[in-house]
Amino acid sequence: MSKKVNVAIIGAGLAGLACAKELQKNKIDFHIFEFTDGVGGRVRSDYVDGFTLDRGFQLYNPSYSEGKRLLDYQSLDLKPFCPGVAIRDGKRLRIVVDPFRDKSFRLRLIKDLPGNPLSQLGLVSYFLKYLITSDAQIATTKDISALESLTKSGVKGSLLEKLFRPFLQGVFLESELATSRKFLDVVLKTFLRGTPSVPAQGMQEISNQLSKTINKDNLSLNTKVIKIEGNKIFTQDEVIEANKIVVATDPSTAISWLNLEKKKMNSVTTWYFKADQSVSSLIEAKPILFVDGKQSGPLTNAVVMTNAAPSYAPAGEVLVSASAISPYENSDLSSVKKHLSHIFGVNTENWELIKEYKIKEALPAMNPPYSLLNSNQITNDLFVAGDHRATSSIQGALLSGTNAATLVKVSLGL
Ligand SMILES: Cc1cc2nc3c(=O)[nH]c(=O)nc-3n(C[C@H](O)[C@H](O)[C@H](O)COP(=O)(O)OP(=O)(O)OC[C@H]3O[C@@H](n4cnc5c(N)ncnc54)[C@H](O)[C@@H]3O)c2cc1C
Repeated sequence: MSKKVNVAIIGAGLAGLACAKELQKNKIDFHIFEFTDGVGGRVRSDYVDGFTLDRGFQLYNPSYSEGKRLLDYQSLDLKPFCPGVAIRDGKRLRIVVDPFRDKSFRLRLIKDLPGNPLSQLGLVSYFLKYLITSDAQIATTKDISALESLTKSGVKGSLLEKLFRPFLQGVFLESELATSRKFLDVVLKTFLRGTPSVPAQGMQEISNQLSKTINKDNLSLNTKVIKIEGNKIFTQDEVIEANKIVVATDPSTAISWLNLEKKKMNSVTTWYFKADQSVSSLIEAKPILFVDGKQSGPLTNAVVMTNAAPSYAPAGEVLVSASAISPYENSDLSSVKKHLSHIFGVNTENWELIKEYKIKEALPAMNPPYSLLNSNQITNDLFVAGDHRATSSIQGALLSGTNAATLVKVSLGL
């Protein structure tokens, strides 16, 4: 006899968890099937010898509207980073920080901002424009690439190459800035509204908090769904019948099961190092993201995690995260450490590698023309949720999960 559930959610990433929370709120029974041994999907952390290691460097922006609705920020104890970047430019270190949120580097900004006055004016007008542009306008204006959008607005030359390209490639996980202008505008708006942060106990806390209220009987971990056929889902051990099915897997699985439009996945590698104190006192010990304006090595960005969240390491220890967008197949540690030494301007010889994360399918590419919100309904009984249906972000995953649950509710006639 096959088992029966009301709503089957496949995948306990943020989309699956947000969907479950919304169903729970509406008193709709559900069961989540998750392939791995824990919740969170791409938002998980490991705890190694007292160090907190997020599975790939990532930040949470408290201005995410869906996050505001679903998460309890106080208990997440968010630790903000500096609202800006430090740019290694040969021997010079430029500090470009939002002067309204952190006044310490106001005077430096004038001489440190790369580019000529014309391109700098382009930057100011770009930001001002998006402060007054509604989300609906962003979604409906003609789509072009982020690179085209920036250059059209006058953001070019060294302002583009030393600041925007190095910074944005760490957000998009691609260096051509071929990503949709719509996502660029959403990202810039989000950065202006909120300061990227990490929860004191790691990004995993976001996933844990979402799953906390889910009854353990409604969640099967270590359960891989092999296929779905009509209203049946097949795991390695059983066949389950469901009134409604929500596919909240990773993008590649959902796309192949549901025959959706194929998407390229962007990759990233993150290395975590136990570093020494010399690096933590740089720039007044501010937790600021470092990029290399000349891109003279493999790394895309690096940051002293413990300057934002000392709880990420045992007392007195320093944790550094360094990331490179792939393809960077030959992870030659010596070139990573050499580049870190150049970026920070300190000796890194004695830094110990704690762990390396190679994430092949980190973000679905969002090339233009891109729609910021795609349908979550396939048939009357089949639904899809995940960042690939909205934006490649925590906000996108949460929003698509909530939207899928709303459609399930409607299809149940509730
Ligand atoms: C390294 C990295 C850095 C990032 N940085 C940021 C950032 O700074 N800010 C930001 O907003 N976003 C960031 N993101 C993006 C964000 O993490 C994702 O967009 C979001 O977590 C996607 O959630 P999801 O639920 O759509 O998919 P996933 O997290 O992929 O969840 C899918 C779940 O389905 C499960 N699953 C798959 N197949 C099956 C199956 N057959 N049976 C059962 N279960 C299955 C998986 O195990 C997984 O748990 C980053 C992502 C990565 C990887």
